[in-house]
Amino acid sequence: MTFPDLNKFFEPRSIVVIGASNIIGKWGFTVPLNILTGGYRGRLHLINPRERIVLGLRAFPHLQFIPGEIDLAILTIPAEQVEESIRLCGRRGIPFALVISSNFAEVGKEGEEREQRLVQVAREAGIRMVGPNTMGFFSCPNRLSAMGAPFRPQRGEMGLVSQSGNLGLQLIGRGMDEGVGISRFVGSGNEADLTTADFIEFLGRDPQTKVIALYLEGIKDGRRFFETARRVSREKPIIVLKTGKTEVGARAARSHSAAIVNDAEVVATAFRQGGVIEVNTTDEVIDVARALLHLPIPGGDQVGIMTMGGGWGVVTAEVCAREGLNIPELPERLRNYFDSLLPPFWSRGNPVDLVGTARRRLQFEVIEKMIQAPEFDFLIIMGVIAGAVYSGWDVFKRFFVSVYNFVRNHFSAALVFPPTLILGIRKSLKKSRKERQTRQIKTTGGIDLSEIRDWNDKVLARRVKEMMVRYRKPIITISGSRDQLPGLARKYDLIVYDTPERASRVGARVASYGVFRKRDLPGTDIEINPDRVSQVKTLIQEFPGLIPERVAKEILALYGIPVTREKLVRSPEEAVQAARGIGYPVVLKVESPQVVHKTEAGGVKLGLDFDPAVREGFENIIRSVEQYDPHAQIRGVLVQEMVRGGVEVFAGVSRDPSFGPVLAFGLGGIFVEVLKDISLRLPPITPEEALAMITSLRGFPLLSGARGKAKTDVLKAVEILTQLSTLSLELKDLVAEIDINPLILFGEGEGAKAVDARMIRKD
Ligand code: ADP
Ligand code: MG
Repeated sequence: MTFPDLNKFFEPRSIVVIGASNIIGKWGFTVPLNILTGGYRGRLHLINPRERIVLGLRAFPHLQFIPGEIDLAILTIPAEQVEESIRLCGRRGIPFALVISSNFAEVGKEGEEREQRLVQVAREAGIRMVGPNTMGFFSCPNRLSAMGAPFRPQRGEMGLVSQSGNLGLQLIGRGMDEGVGISRFVGSGNEADLTTADFIEFLGRDPQTKVIALYLEGIKDGRRFFETARRVSREKPIIVLKTGKTEVGARAARSHSAAIVNDAEVVATAFRQGGVIEVNTTDEVIDVARALLHLPIPGGDQVGIMTMGGGWGVVTAEVCAREGLNIPELPERLRNYFDSLLPPFWSRGNPVDLVGTARRRLQFEVIEKMIQAPEFDFLIIMGVIAGAVYSGWDVFKRFFVSVYNFVRNHFSAALVFPPTLILGIRKSLKKSRKERQTRQIKTTGGIDLSEIRDWNDKVLARRVKEMMVRYRKPIITISGSRDQLPGLARKYDLIVYDTPERASRVGARVASYGVFRKRDLPGTDIEINPDRVSQVKTLIQEFPGLIPERVAKEILALYGIPVTREKLVRSPEEAVQAARGIGYPVVLKVESPQVVHKTEAGGVKLGLDFDPAVREGFENIIRSVEQYDPHAQIRGVLVQEMVRGGVEVFAGVSRDPSFGPVLAFGLGGIFVEVLKDISLRLPPITPEEALAMITSLRGFPLLSGARGKAKTDVLKAVEILTQLSTLSLELKDLVAEIDINPLILFGEGEGAKAVDARMIRKD
């Protein structure tokens, strides 16, 4: 796969704006103004055929008059003039054009044609194009704001690609609220030429970018997107917010950025397999980006939860479970240790509920023991950071305020109170000393006064961070107080959330990425076996369109997929001979290019077990098919071994217009047709992924021996899916669709057999 080097686009030494204007509010005014005021240090040229001075700069009437090399042309002229302008840019040797102009594919048929012509012209002119229909881009390291909105982003480490300019701006703004800055932003618009995949590739290599975020309405050339994203996300996380999944959304997206409508299931599959972190809201984009920028990546999805109170723990555990995280049991050795440490009413499980134990050193002892444990990949802790009742000097402030209020309201008690207080303080100091000596706490009542001095939010934050660094596992914290959050988070560079839901969701996204990074992946290319390909070519030569069962099975056999024994015959006598050769009982099936569903046409006879039945079956099939379709051309009748026992499943390859070949697996019949219980994957897949594909089916228990059913040979199914994966890529230019329905799975260790297969040739 080849990618253009987008360095000259993001860091051009000189830019020309074609369509620069003095009229305030026009794109030709705003864009160059933003470039000028943004601090761009390269050369900026302006083109306007009538005005001599634009924005205080000398304007040229024509590209020819501009001296020196130009790296980037920005077009803000009407759509009808874009083609000609691109041609001139090509002649001038400009490598990149940002086409801000709209009125292309997003407006319907005429615009679509205009866009196609434009792509053609750009190709001929040797220009790579961003847009059309875009608001522009930011490149923060070189302070380039080539945007149609007066907005100054904060510099940071998130690279953002958005098919919508204003959504991009919203994400940038939200990021600024949360302290997540931008490295580069590009509004990719209609993506007529350069697509998201090209930008992912660039951002993947860009040392200024640590995390990539995408807003997508439609994915063009999904296969290329998938392959690029999967490779890049091994190194750098990619977060995506994808719309256009509902019919209404798709319609809106189409008129907005000419987005193509993707199959939602296929897109979800591509994201999952590509390690792309899918989120559902704009807030979540920023939450996850921030977490990925500040936390170590967890090595798995096992979460340990520590809480200061029950409800918090329950909600967190529940959201974590719903988001697919694992909440393992607290290991025995930890339980015993915590027993020796904590008051008797602690939860004795995960979530570890300290039931209000306010001793900092105990809290941190628990946190440290948990994060050390190999059973946990990361922690969510609640009520420690900015739980803030017993933290630092804040305590005294609160204390004096309460004393003041008390005295004001109960003046008579004012005399008794101070001595009581002194007594109280003495008692707690004594208690603290004793606790320290025995390393044990018998009740949680009261606080350890000696801790107040040593533990404020800053210290707490430092301790949490130290532990993350030492054990390379993330700790996500939850605080009850919303107003303290942004300050705290930024000041101490911590990940703190205001609700358990938010924290758990982020935890789940980050963990699934961690799991992806640890998985072995096959390359996205496979080694092609040219002999096999040419064998298939010869086999399918005479079949345009539908490739018949017999030939489809020959192809499957070339890939090691077991099929039934069978023979094509043309008369009842031949059928009897074949049946004797194969062995009774047999199955007869019609072979006709017009009959796609053989049963429907009366073209299948099962379980024939003696000569006359075969003769009669042959004649019946011919009669039924002729009745079903008088024009059907009958090539003959297939005599086939009758397979007994086993469970019928279905395996196939369909073709997505954007993502190319898609593997599918499911239980046959109603499971596929009514319940839509189907697993999808983009090839190639490893055996591990093939297994996951099978076990993730809702109906999987029917294959694994549930309710007294026999266990089936799942491992054979894994092998067949892996072979089908190779086949789908090796033959991707020859075969468009494959349907093995049914594939019969026998008992454990007994194999499987394809009893029906259908392929559609690709033209
Ligand atoms: P179609 O799908 O075109 O109607 P099939 O070849 O799949 O035709 O046959 C219909 C059904 O007959 C299959 O779903 C399967 O249940 C059964 N069947 C077909 N061939 C065999 C065979 N060789 N052994 C056992 N059952 C078979
Ligand atoms: Mg069938």
